[in-house]
Amino acid sequence: MRTRQPASSRTRVRRVPERGNYDPTTVQAILDEALVAHVAFTVEGHPAVVPVGCARHGDALLLHCARSSRLAKALGSGEEVCVAVTHLDGLVLARSAFHHSMNYRSVVIYGRPRAITETAELRVALHALTDHLAPGRWDVIRQPSAKELRATVVFSLSLAESSAKIRTGPPKDDPEDLSWDVWAGVIPLRLARGAPRPDGDGSSVGKPGPLRGTRTR
Ligand SMILES: Cc1cc2nc3c(=O)[nH]c(=O)nc-3n(C[C@H](O)[C@H](O)[C@H](O)COP(=O)(O)OP(=O)(O)OC[C@H]3O[C@@H](n4cnc5c(N)ncnc54)[C@H](O)[C@@H]3O)c2cc1C
Repeated sequence: MRTRQPASSRTRVRRVPERGNYDPTTVQAILDEALVAHVAFTVEGHPAVVPVGCARHGDALLLHCARSSRLAKALGSGEEVCVAVTHLDGLVLARSAFHHSMNYRSVVIYGRPRAITETAELRVALHALTDHLAPGRWDVIRQPSAKELRATVVFSLSLAESSAKIRTGPPKDDPEDLSWDVWAGVIPLRLARGAPRPDGDGSSVGKPGPLRGTRTR
């Protein structure tokens, strides 16, 4: 079990360290709300970053990749990657340009992803990824064929070397700016669910059920 100290020197938040958090439950809560992770890796000597679908599963983050992708090749190379997950919670409008900011919850993870190759484990991972989008969906959809399983690769990235960083609250204006005649405060932002739109093909019956991306704050 990780302690509440950074797991390594490179995961210690140095810039505004009081916003850093290494509590596994905090890291997990941020990841559990995330639908997308940005994966940074090196390809042919240059840096690249790619967004992919993700889901936390135990002490790891699952990353979904098409097997033929450049990303899958890079993640399977054994090299280290760095993954970021971000929730934007608000625009922080200060009285000075300098103190404009954002409220957020983010996680950064370093590690070497492990490709899930064994069929039973791959099914469990795909189940977790699918139900992360819409809980309970795996049990009502057609299961992947052998061909579809071969076309998909899921990587598991340990959360052992992870950090969270969280900003909350109003702008931090300088005292001498407080009399500046302009509105200041926070514009809350959140990911919201729209009304479901059936595809119109086949038998689109019932309702989509519970979905992610619906947190109300
Ligand atoms: C939505 C959003 C908007 C932001 N806007 C700005 C901006 O405009 N300008 C700006 O300077 N910074 C911004 N930040 C903060 C930014 O992510 C960095 O934390 C900051 O720039 C310091 O970077 P650094 O490499 O010097 O961090 P350091 O503190 O040196 O990083 C050391 C280690 O701390 C951890 N860490 C650092 N940042 C984060 C993070 N965000 N989440 C989780 N772990 C982290 C990593 O493990 C990293 O290796 C923003 C963050 C978010 C989520």
